[in-house]
Amino acid sequence: MICETPSSPAQSGEALGRIARARRDAAHFIDGAFTQGSSSNGWTNLCPLDGSAIGRVPEGGKTEVDAAVAAARAALGGEWGRMSVLQRTDMLGAVADGIDRRFDDFLEAECLDTGKPISLARHIDIPRGAANFKMFTDVAKTVATECFTMDTPDGAGAINYGLRRPRGVIAVISPWNLPLLLMTWKVGPALALGNSVVVKPSEETPLTATLLGEVMNEIGVPKGVYNVVHGFGPNSAGEFLTQHPLVDGITFTGETRTGEAIMREAALGIRPVSFELGGKNPALVFADCDLDKAVEGTLRSAFANCGQVCLGTERVYVERPIYDAFVARLKAGAEALCPGVPDDMTTGIGPLVSREHREKVLSYYRRAVEQGATIVTGGGIPDMPDALKGGAWVQPTIWTGLAEDSDCVTQEIFGPCCHIRPFDTEEEAISLANRTAYGLAAAIWTENLARAHRVAARMEIGICWVNSWFLRDLRTAFGGSKASGIGREGGVHGLEFYTEMSNICIKL
Ligand code: NAD
Repeated sequence: MICETPSSPAQSGEALGRIARARRDAAHFIDGAFTQGSSSNGWTNLCPLDGSAIGRVPEGGKTEVDAAVAAARAALGGEWGRMSVLQRTDMLGAVADGIDRRFDDFLEAECLDTGKPISLARHIDIPRGAANFKMFTDVAKTVATECFTMDTPDGAGAINYGLRRPRGVIAVISPWNLPLLLMTWKVGPALALGNSVVVKPSEETPLTATLLGEVMNEIGVPKGVYNVVHGFGPNSAGEFLTQHPLVDGITFTGETRTGEAIMREAALGIRPVSFELGGKNPALVFADCDLDKAVEGTLRSAFANCGQVCLGTERVYVERPIYDAFVARLKAGAEALCPGVPDDMTTGIGPLVSREHREKVLSYYRRAVEQGATIVTGGGIPDMPDALKGGAWVQPTIWTGLAEDSDCVTQEIFGPCCHIRPFDTEEEAISLANRTAYGLAAAIWTENLARAHRVAARMEIGICWVNSWFLRDLRTAFGGSKASGIGREGGVHGLEFYTEMSNICIKL
């Protein structure tokens, strides 16, 4: 079934449906106060649904970054630094409840900034954004450290024990695809473990980080614990923050190339980094899979959030006996995804985050053709109603027939597209899956449990799903191998980055 009407006539004249179109300006949040900063530099935040202006965003420079880092450092020496673990974690539980209380405000802000369907943001972005504040309080309350007794020549002995201290001021640099969720995924553990933060949200999605400042004040989180400075990367707030000598650690989610630039800055002063970077994730679909589940799962992993999920599938390898059936069914599923506005419940796919990102995605669509792809479906811009023509819409796209070393099979596109290729043996599938510079995630579709364990163990990645995708238990390790990241966050694994371990040796 081909989706013929991009959105219902009732809503096609109104790009945002029921979302209030009041102007929303962003502000820095520094030392508990909202400010436009010291310069008049800034930009207009555009809505990807129709290209209309949402509001102004101030661009922070060295002055704002200095002020935010100073406030964060002062907070460590003040009330925040003196709180007991229980007081601190109770406060973060209240922040989670505060997000829940203002659920609709966060939902609207996120949908305006990203254009994503409300059905998605309501189930993933906002609840997970709130949950990130609760989840890590358990870790902070229950974490144990090591203890060793040792012999000494005088026979009296000594005891060693580990003590975890907050690392200090953490710079949090976050992307635009899941703005609140990915930002709080770092702010939650950082604060639970006693650090203070300066957040530099993506320039594309400034609203929910700003809104979180209001919640922090409503709850009474001490000034300077949570700070936000808006801006760009190079020669702007992002770079000034990562260069700042009083930042003790940098946690970053974004492109691998940006990670390389940030790592160079982190070398000054030997600051630790935690990096969650790009991916070119494979799905392996074996002939013994449940085809319904594999098609449904791959539709989500390739096209959810308009393909803008770091864990998403851009390479699909299908065992030859079911290859034709799989391609036909994925095609039908992609064509049934109706592009539309966030609050239209028939919307199956929103726009990309910006026209600029669409240009990047379309350049890959063109390159796929130049490099010999067969377009199974999509490949261009959908025909949208007039009110939405200024948006960043793009068609879900499937290719076959590309060489394994072609651009669209090797480079992360971060759009709603995937390439499908047949394979004949398990060994070949494993080798194809691992043939990439990245190592973030993989999905395996098989009903053969022995095969599932065997193949999963050989995937060179941080996260492997079997017969599912995006199923996340926040207690588990999250991160990428190879060019997809450094370190693991989630559960107790974030302790490595967000705390500094001291060994206390007591001579008896
Ligand atoms: P990006 O790297 O362009 O930007 C991310 C953030 O870094 C933004 O806030 C940006 O302003 C900032 N930045 C850019 N240059 C900088 C510099 N030189 N110094 C300091 N800060 C700088 O990434 P994006 O386009 O916002 O997000 C998409 C990318 O993020 C994709 O590659 C995707 O795979 C990746 N991602 C990874 C994960 C993961 O968990 N591994 C999750 C989501 C997104």
